[in-house]
Amino acid sequence: MDMNGNRGQEKNLHPGSPGRHISAFSRVRKAQIAPPAPDPALRRLKFRAFDIARTSTAGRTVRFPLWGRPVTAYGNANLSIYSGQACNAKCPFCVEDLRPASRGTSLACQKTVEGDDEVYFGALKEVLRALRPLNPSVSITGGEPSLDPRLPRTLRALEAHRMRKRTITTNGSGLLDVREGRPVIDWLTSTGIRHLNLSRAHPDPARNGRLMGLERNLTPDDLVRILRRASAGGTRARLSCVLLKGETDCLGGIIEYLAFAEAMGVDNVVFRQLMHPGPGAPANDPVLGFSESNAVKLDPVLEQMTVDPRFTFIKQVVGYYYYVEVWKYRSIDVVFEEADLGRIELTRRMMPGIIQELVFHPNARLTSTWQPWDGVLGPFLENSVSVSG
Ligand code: SF4
Repeated sequence: MDMNGNRGQEKNLHPGSPGRHISAFSRVRKAQIAPPAPDPALRRLKFRAFDIARTSTAGRTVRFPLWGRPVTAYGNANLSIYSGQACNAKCPFCVEDLRPASRGTSLACQKTVEGDDEVYFGALKEVLRALRPLNPSVSITGGEPSLDPRLPRTLRALEAHRMRKRTITTNGSGLLDVREGRPVIDWLTSTGIRHLNLSRAHPDPARNGRLMGLERNLTPDDLVRILRRASAGGTRARLSCVLLKGETDCLGGIIEYLAFAEAMGVDNVVFRQLMHPGPGAPANDPVLGFSESNAVKLDPVLEQMTVDPRFTFIKQVVGYYYYVEVWKYRSIDVVFEEADLGRIELTRRMMPGIIQELVFHPNARLTSTWQPWDGVLGPFLENSVSVSG
């Protein structure tokens, strides 16, 4: 059963001057249809403007039974399949490390992997079946999913359950490896993966390898082969670049990166400000320390673009802990993203009882958070491992 989001949340979202902000939000729906320019109020407030009824992409929640109990989820909730395969890169800005750090713990303390394939896939299929009424989009992430021996079977399960808008995020290391008789990139295209997000911190291969701590760095030829096979198979590739001081750190650097993407035949690029970890992260956390020293603020870049005729504004997207602007540069969709992990907990407190996103963890448990020990939903199948933490 569908139901609208709670408008009473507005007073929590905009405690300072609700009238002024609400008038700005009321323009958002129109702005999403044919926006001439970004709404400055939304740009200033970002995720703080998140309101299911007024500013979200879904505009509604969905109530459905989950393993025998009614739950309410955001209507455009995403299901992340979090691969248990350890990542082969060592990015000093690693989001996988930052997520547990934002809750005061560490990846080593909280990540456990269900080792029995039959238990793992039994749970995955049960999750996909149970989430049918919600019909979430699905993204595969990691760790490093392209190196995961379970990836082909995972892809087949998603295809068999006709999951909506399937995406994978990877550093690309294993995409040309052969698994179960075919290259991993071909498994992606043949099972209907719609978007391939390739993390690439810099156009130059050596600098990219150094920044991401990758011993096994994709060569330019490998990258071209992957991109061609993706395109031929109907999977749209997107390059993902973090904004880092001394690397891609200004509009000129962004345009250089876009020229690299264009030369590779890629028409979709995302630039990300390093994530805010929120107040829960320990002050001595190394990822936090790196971010504080190397983060490039997105706002000045967006201000420059707004007056640069080479860029055309497309839309703003307000998420529950992220804010996105989409622009067009020549034939390329250029996405800018800022996220604050601290907002995840804040939004949970402000909108209690509403599941904002879903994560299927490597321990074969579905939770409503990025922590395997928090917001556990199920499934509780016989012989499954116990939840860590
Ligand atoms: S590629 Fe992704 S998961 Fe791997 S170290 Fe870098 S940010 Fe972390």
